[in-house]
Amino acid sequence: MHREGEDMKKKYIFSITVAALMAAFMTGCIEQAKLAREQLEQSENPNIAKVQIFAMDTIMNMTIENENGDELLKEATQKIHNLESLFSVTQQDSDIYKLNHSAGENSVNIALETADVLQNAKEISQITNGAYNTTISPIVKLWGFTEDEHHVPTKNELQKLLPNVNMDYLELESNDSNEWTAFLQKSDMAVDLGGIAKGYTSDYLTKWLKDQGVESGYLSLGGNVSAIGLRNNGEKWRIGIQDPLDSNELVGVLKIEDQSVITSGGYQRFFETDGKKYHHILDPSNGFPAESGLLSVTIISKNGTKADGLSTALFVMGLEQATALWRNSNDFEAVFVTKDQKVFVTEGLKDDFIFKGDKAGYVLKFISKNM
Ligand code: AMP
Ligand code: MG
Repeated sequence: MHREGEDMKKKYIFSITVAALMAAFMTGCIEQAKLAREQLEQSENPNIAKVQIFAMDTIMNMTIENENGDELLKEATQKIHNLESLFSVTQQDSDIYKLNHSAGENSVNIALETADVLQNAKEISQITNGAYNTTISPIVKLWGFTEDEHHVPTKNELQKLLPNVNMDYLELESNDSNEWTAFLQKSDMAVDLGGIAKGYTSDYLTKWLKDQGVESGYLSLGGNVSAIGLRNNGEKWRIGIQDPLDSNELVGVLKIEDQSVITSGGYQRFFETDGKKYHHILDPSNGFPAESGLLSVTIISKNGTKADGLSTALFVMGLEQATALWRNSNDFEAVFVTKDQKVFVTEGLKDDFIFKGDKAGYVLKFISKNM
């Protein structure tokens, strides 16, 4: 068995103080990390390595089973910081910063990873009819979510910016040597990878860790979970889905293998003014926090990037449109928690979803492929 004290000395632990000070919703991430650790430590195998860092504005936990686990997690940590230094909207020399600050003027050279994530963003925007829109950044900023200086915009302020929230105005080009440039056609445009960056990062890391021989592990990037393989006892990983109305409770537990589980919900980030709550997932059609009747959307997929983009988009789209999209797809499953306290689960999860919401008054419903 592993002893916590020894572990703490051995491993690389960053930003514990920051972690301890994080807002209430972070409790979920920490709880998930604890669950992962417990799930791995139940085995006799001593090769468990874990790390907690603060990156991309959130707490990240990684737990893997491998002889060189400590070294691998050190490298993985570096990779996260490298991606952050490409994707950040605030770090001055990031690709995204350069792109945003050259809007309407000139194209900029971007790394392959940035090109990759932007291309994914374009595809997800296309399949969700623009509900996912990474050029929403000026509106996110207008609401004050970027700097945490909140402000309810006027319709006029929104109308000025909305016409340039358009993925078609984001140009990506490559040459024969696979070198990429990006360009924003209008001067008041900007992109924000907040809805997709963590999913992309988890895909990037799980692929790299698997290439290094890791067969079992668990990444929780701000509550976005990606599992590598199975637990070392051969069982599936168990991931709790939070009750959006009570951070100490779960509406269900998912069992997953080699998949990502990513949740978007208005409860995760919001501010309150004059008794009204305004959350961070915006409807690109009007610039207001999406009011689609959903409290949260959880996407389960082998593709973490897509899971992240879709979790944001399907929250905007609402249950009906989201269900239609799911019926036409075969690469993800979903759990929807609605304001009228129903938990809708797509039928592909039938054997892997344990309902826990009955005590709090939720009602479970399954969604099938046939209407
Ligand atoms: P997530 O937590 O993955 O749902 O992402 C939410 C974040 O994505 C927000 O904090 C914004 O930075 C950004 N965002 C908000 N609304 C949208 C949208 N409709 N499409 C793309 N990104 C969005
Ligand atoms: Mg997302």
